[in-house]
Amino acid sequence: MEEFCKSLPKVELHAHINGSVSEATIQKLLAKKKNSDQQFSFKKGSTGTLKECFEKFRLIHQLTDNTESVYQVTCDVIHEFHDDNVKYLELRSTPRAVQDTGMSRESYVESVLRAIQDCGDLDIIVRFLLAIDRRNGVKVGWETLRLAQKFQKSHGDLVVGMDLSGDPSVGDARDYLPVFREAQKSGLKLALHLCEIPAPEETMEMLTLPPDRIGHGTFLHTEAGGNQQFENTVLKNRTPLELCLTSNLIGQTVPNLDNHQFKFWYEKEHPCVICTDDKGVFSTSMSEEYQLAASTFDLKQRDLWNLSEQSINYTFCEENVKEKLRDQFKVYKSKMEEQFNIKL
Ligand code: 5GP
Repeated sequence: MEEFCKSLPKVELHAHINGSVSEATIQKLLAKKKNSDQQFSFKKGSTGTLKECFEKFRLIHQLTDNTESVYQVTCDVIHEFHDDNVKYLELRSTPRAVQDTGMSRESYVESVLRAIQDCGDLDIIVRFLLAIDRRNGVKVGWETLRLAQKFQKSHGDLVVGMDLSGDPSVGDARDYLPVFREAQKSGLKLALHLCEIPAPEETMEMLTLPPDRIGHGTFLHTEAGGNQQFENTVLKNRTPLELCLTSNLIGQTVPNLDNHQFKFWYEKEHPCVICTDDKGVFSTSMSEEYQLAASTFDLKQRDLWNLSEQSINYTFCEENVKEKLRDQFKVYKSKMEEQFNIKL
């Protein structure tokens, strides 16, 4: 299965840039920072709470406090996904301003987009979502939307949507509803972290937007303490769920993988997309996430193929790009059938 998952062409739709930074890149960034005695370790099995994960993001942000580092991290992350046979990648990141280094939210986004363009020769299609961190307040939310609109005009092929993320125990997602409604009117797609922790008050209203995809959705369904209305709405809208096994295990939002929400939605034949979330912080890769899904939920090679290929339907790119990907996947399919001597 390991070889199969590595060879499988994959679609990654939920990857936070700073959470995806590898240890190799961290070392490069540390070497550039004088007087830094920070210690980083993203070793597998180092579980913690979601709060502890957020502490890691804070440390990484200290290293990516300038446009050069943001550019470097984005390039490295794209190369690493490419090397893992990811053929389509949607990156998301929170534009950050750092006064000391002169980085503005705008120059942050410019660096990300420049990195994406400079990786244009690689056999991987990359798109970008601007993220709103719910800890930063609505004013910054509006600012992020304005940036998204601006870059949508100048880089319409690359900027495809917006994300809502950040510590789910802080603030109220409903405060951002007007921002997301306007984003929708501008033609930006919405991938929102919802119900990562039980959040009955905010969830129903956020679902009315409706989002184009949901990140995690751990506590949406009744079995996990959600409610029937959430479950019905998500099923009726067929809103794809971005599911990140290792992340949820390490962040301890699920007690074990057997009880991961993947099982519930997958058995209902609901759109599910396997993603890494933060491949650096959680020390994982797309190939490993597919392997984990296979071993936990007893999925066969054909099931994995279908999961990967169907993910194309849930991307935020233009229809002609989806078509191109589907054509590419047809070619990969015959190659994989030959390589593994199976009918996919
Ligand atoms: P960045 O946006 O700086 O590129 O990536 C790191 C940020 O992504 C974190 O500070 C956090 O706001 C968000 N993030 C990464 N992983 C998660 C997650 O599992 N849940 C939530 N809610 N936010 C996350």
